[in-house]
Amino acid sequence: MKDLTLFLAPFSRLVDFGDPFSVLSMVAALFCAVVFLRHSMTGSLQARASVIIHKVFATESIESRSFRLDLKLFVFNSVIFAAAAAWLNFSEPMWRASTYDAVAAILGGHEAVENGATWSKILITLVGFLAAEAGFWLAHWLCHEIPLFWRFHQLHHSAPVMTPFTALRQHPIEIILFIVVVGAFVGTGEALLVATLGTRGAAIDCFGVNVFLFLYFLTLQHFRHSPLWMPLQGWTGCLLQSPAHHQLHHSRAEASQHSNLGFALATFDWLFGTLELPTGKQVTAFGTTPEAGQIDGLWEACFAPITRKDLVELILCKGKSALSSILTRLVRDRTNGMR
Ligand SMILES: [Zn+2]
Ligand SMILES: [Zn+2]
Repeated sequence: MKDLTLFLAPFSRLVDFGDPFSVLSMVAALFCAVVFLRHSMTGSLQARASVIIHKVFATESIESRSFRLDLKLFVFNSVIFAAAAAWLNFSEPMWRASTYDAVAAILGGHEAVENGATWSKILITLVGFLAAEAGFWLAHWLCHEIPLFWRFHQLHHSAPVMTPFTALRQHPIEIILFIVVVGAFVGTGEALLVATLGTRGAAIDCFGVNVFLFLYFLTLQHFRHSPLWMPLQGWTGCLLQSPAHHQLHHSRAEASQHSNLGFALATFDWLFGTLELPTGKQVTAFGTTPEAGQIDGLWEACFAPITRKDLVELILCKGKSALSSILTRLVRDRTNGMR
């Protein structure tokens, strides 16, 4: 029965309203797009929604190799991470709680009594959200700056066709990196609050998700991976990641690929000099190399970061020396235009 639940994981996401892929968030995001694009579209609400759906899921898009791989990775990642949470006791909340315990044991205040005051709840919610965003920015920055991590992250960037399912076009190793860094930031943030202010308790949430993050799920999140050009400029563009921010990040233009690393907020990009506001023309060419965009096999996608040269080295050399030699080369490898 448990195994059956695992294989239903990709579908149960649709009705888990705390999941970014829930039907609720998709419908709300569609409504948001209709409102956002009201000046460039005519017709009734339904007619505009229909035009948007046809643009995002155009026939040539859903028949592409890129979309096929996105769907396979969506199913694969949903199942293996549901399995990891069930069998290995590994998930973001578990890792976050462990980090909290470890940091609180050092800083003290572990036994703080829950404070039910409104200011306290708002503070916990805000700190949790900012910590998650800072962790996401850092994990993403590491993916672009460390060649070993880029090897895994480039799968996400290789999609020449962008649909909301491209969000899950991720290598499992990359997902683990994000879980570890984001969880560590949120756990540490919570422990710091307890140690400094004695404030403890749950964040304000909707279906188990921090309310600020949940609002992003309902509005701009889905169209980050889509051809819909929805830019935020000026101060709003320095505060929030609009879909156009992330489309610049997926642009074929290499200079833009290393900008806009945040998830919901653009603030950390603005603070650390990686912000590129979408003030220019709409991005129309996505992906990295034409060859990378042609991959549609799950096996190929998962093993692409490991080259034949790595395997030969592993087979010919034995033990630790082979592994350390490969790791050294991976870290130093700055070929193929990777950063
Ligand atoms: Zn990236
Ligand atoms: Zn992306």
